[in-house]
Amino acid sequence: MNDILPDVSGTWRYLESVVRDIVQSYGYDEIRLPLLEHTELFRRSIGEVTDIVEKEMYTFADRNGESLTLRPEATASVVRAGITNGLLHNQRQKLWTSGPMFRYEKPQKGRYRQFHQFDVEALGFDGPDVDAELIIMCARMWRTLGLSRLTLEINSLGTADSRARYRKALVEYFSGVKSRLDEDSIRRLGQNPLRILDSKNPDMQDIVATAPVMLDFLDQDSAEHFQALKGLLEVAGVAYTINPRLVRGLDYYNRTVFEWVTDALGSQGAVCSGGRYDGLVEKLGGRPTPAVGWAMGIERLVALFAACGAEAPAAGTDVYFVAVGDSALVQAFALAEDLRDRVTGIRVEANLGGGSFKSQLKRADKSNAAYALILGEQEIADQCVGLKPLRSTEDQSSIAVDALAETLAGRLGKTVAG
Ligand code: ATP
Ligand code: MG
Repeated sequence: MNDILPDVSGTWRYLESVVRDIVQSYGYDEIRLPLLEHTELFRRSIGEVTDIVEKEMYTFADRNGESLTLRPEATASVVRAGITNGLLHNQRQKLWTSGPMFRYEKPQKGRYRQFHQFDVEALGFDGPDVDAELIIMCARMWRTLGLSRLTLEINSLGTADSRARYRKALVEYFSGVKSRLDEDSIRRLGQNPLRILDSKNPDMQDIVATAPVMLDFLDQDSAEHFQALKGLLEVAGVAYTINPRLVRGLDYYNRTVFEWVTDALGSQGAVCSGGRYDGLVEKLGGRPTPAVGWAMGIERLVALFAACGAEAPAAGTDVYFVAVGDSALVQAFALAEDLRDRVTGIRVEANLGGGSFKSQLKRADKSNAAYALILGEQEIADQCVGLKPLRSTEDQSSIAVDALAETLAGRLGKTVAG
């Protein structure tokens, strides 16, 4: 579980705001959810025989003896909230949410126990159009953020019926190579053979590579859905590869599944993953409601952003007030408030805790401000402020108090309000 320190929090805020603004621009609205849910919710939605439920959940009994779990993902909570708040009765919902998720994993680069997701869910839509939209909006994010080295993998898991036929074929295939399966896979063979395809064990990759593929078992409707999705992506100019072994690590998916992966982050390459989960709302006690969504790992997005050499727009301090003496401090506070009122987006720091002229100027320099604004007895008497450039060779000058907002706005490339 990481602290996100001030030297990177600006990048986080920038990435989150770009992602949020793009999702909003497609007509999705925010839903804020609790971090804790009844354990049962995740068992029923994610599936008993999955890595998350078997090994990764932070589960505990509360004072009342109820079993609660720190959410390992957001989709189950979105569906639970949709049902309990009546959001799905004859309505369609386009929602997003974000925040920390918790999984007891083996920590390594790109894999943490508290990590952050940005999550988008569309409930009440059954066509391939929404699947395409959810993918196309990701492509827009990558363009906006200047991210390269991301490729899109898609697959279809069909319906429960076609998956049952596929399951049979998988059991047959894996039973034939049982002596080479690892412990997890042997256990899953009887319960949930699809999960074997999702194994992270390198020794299992050869066996998985030659297993039967779901696409050969697809029902007609799912095949058409998949075809239409591919057509919409092609028209939008979004390149994809079909990965017939992409099954996703949660049980609730059907039809479309997809993953945006990068080769820039080592083995933790999945940046954004999602898919359709038409049966989940009903399974959790709501009326049958088709749904589809994705989740993006913010830590991996931040890492990829850095790996692509991209940088968030600078958001440092613009000006730092150096004020020596009590009356100068009062005046500096008033002028600082005035600048914050009038110069759009300016970041103004007032020197706090007094100190000599020299030590205040040192702090001004350390704040990375572009300018120090100097107020002493002489400046107060003259109704002006000393403007000292800290990052350039411009000369220090003296600005009339009345002209300060306009002068700074001009120098900083900002606008004056009102
Ligand atoms: P992985 O295959 O890497 O374990 P997953 O299939 O478990 O991923 P999802 O449950 O679909 O991932 O979560 C969506 C996204 O959240 C992933 O694509 C990834 O970017 C991110 N993510 C998942 N687990 C972690 C983690 N432990 N630490 C950081 N990011 C994570
Ligand atoms: Mg995982």
